[in-house]
Amino acid sequence: MSDLSLHPATQAFLQRAHKMLIGDQWCDAQSGQTMALHNPATGDVLTQVPAGDAQDVERAVRMARATFDDSEWSRMRPRERQNLMLKLADLMERDGQLLAEIECMNNGKSAHIARIMDVQLCIDYIRYMAGWATKIHGLTVSPSLPLMPDAQFHGYVSREAVGVVGAIVAWNFPLLLACWKLAPALATGCTMVIKPADETPLSAMKLGELMLEAGFPAGVFNVVTGSGAVAGAALSAHPLVDKLTFTGSTEIGKLIGKAAMDNMTRVTLELGGKSPTIVLEDANLETAAAGAANAIFFNHGQVCCAGSRLYVHRKHFDRVIADISGIANSMKLGSGLDASVDMGPLVSAKQQARVFRYIEMGQEMGATIACGGEQFGPGYFVQPTVITDVDQACPLVQEEIFGPVLVAQPFDDIDEVIRMANDSPFGLGASIWSNDLGKVHRMIPRIKSGSVWVNCHSALDPSLPFGGYKMSGVGREMGQDAIEHYTELKSVLINL
Ligand code: NAD
Ligand code: MN
Repeated sequence: MSDLSLHPATQAFLQRAHKMLIGDQWCDAQSGQTMALHNPATGDVLTQVPAGDAQDVERAVRMARATFDDSEWSRMRPRERQNLMLKLADLMERDGQLLAEIECMNNGKSAHIARIMDVQLCIDYIRYMAGWATKIHGLTVSPSLPLMPDAQFHGYVSREAVGVVGAIVAWNFPLLLACWKLAPALATGCTMVIKPADETPLSAMKLGELMLEAGFPAGVFNVVTGSGAVAGAALSAHPLVDKLTFTGSTEIGKLIGKAAMDNMTRVTLELGGKSPTIVLEDANLETAAAGAANAIFFNHGQVCCAGSRLYVHRKHFDRVIADISGIANSMKLGSGLDASVDMGPLVSAKQQARVFRYIEMGQEMGATIACGGEQFGPGYFVQPTVITDVDQACPLVQEEIFGPVLVAQPFDDIDEVIRMANDSPFGLGASIWSNDLGKVHRMIPRIKSGSVWVNCHSALDPSLPFGGYKMSGVGREMGQDAIEHYTELKSVLINL
């Protein structure tokens, strides 16, 4: 049975006035401007949020700067940072349903799945990174310095928090992307200003509330809402920001990278993808078809590492396409509040229109729509779609669509499929479906992507660094490597 009612706490949250967080103050944009958010399942206006601009970014960055440079936070010991992070994770667990329903109402995704995936991954990652707070260390060295033969030295390398972090994130996993940036920032002792996606700022605002309730000092976490071109651009160009961390399109990632270099700001970019799902001749076809369907349709295809290109051994191509089409045709579309629904709407009318432009382009180019391809409203829905009879050069194969659209091609041998898999400007993820361990192991080093999954896809864990080769980005999130991206090295040499 479907239950479309919101938790009373979510109703109360949505009805109140939404403000930005600077220090411990909830404020409107200094200009007084607001922007409307929409419920993707209906297209109705959900609420208004402040439309921050450079003045608001200025205040937030100065607050984060002062808090980093000299405050209770900058003097805090690792154990205390760890304990605050564990407290935050507990509060997120307490408010898990509320956070999931905020994601559902603002992004369109399933509240049920957001609770067990998005929100749970946030909690798990914050706890994982809380453990790192007490385990950040440098090393000691024994310098030789031949020109000073009589001197004795003590040399060491320490790891210091990078400083003020400017985070700019996309709308596909609003809370999770925020936490991927926040958790290592807190573990290392940084402060942060986050500019959530224009479309989906609400969960970052709730996160700000929980940060204060957990007892983080004012100014550690600041939230400026507003458009990317205004608030995002101001944050990425701010000289008092020490590190920028971004998740979004490759196009905007390049702009942010260039802005960062003007100030030599450290920068991590998690960008687009066009990740291949490769089904080898020996694969368990049932598992592979279900896995390939999930790889593209999870989160309605709005996943940076979605398996959006499918390559199936020619012998099994028709069978696997029929299986995936069967799964797609049986998926129930509807509101993310309905736990019986398999797929919700896309995030915005703009994203829906973008996806249909690609589907129409495919039709014009003579591709076959094996299933789906239709839209319905009033919300921003796109049917799960599988497209065949495309070639490698087709824009549908080369460009990130970022919706529930799979393009599929057959292959005849391993060399050919590796060539096709790597024939992409992106290199975020890839999955191989096979039980032939030798064959799989020989393929893995030849795949140019930051993650390779075997008999699974988009499977992320706090212990495994995640990020892209090629146009999919710079740097890694999660794992021990994340700590490196939020710290600077200091070499110390003491002449004893
Ligand atoms: P985007 O890259 O424009 O937006 C991501 C974030 O960057 C948002 O917070 C946005 O406000 C901000 N931003 C936008 N312009 C900016 C600027 N000039 N300076 C600083 N910040 C700026 O993504 P989008 O417009 O929401 O989506 C467009 C396409 O990007 C999608 O269709 C999809 O293909 C791709 N995308 C990819 C991912 C991913 O994780 N790979 C995520 C979102 C979107
Ligand atoms: Mn954009």
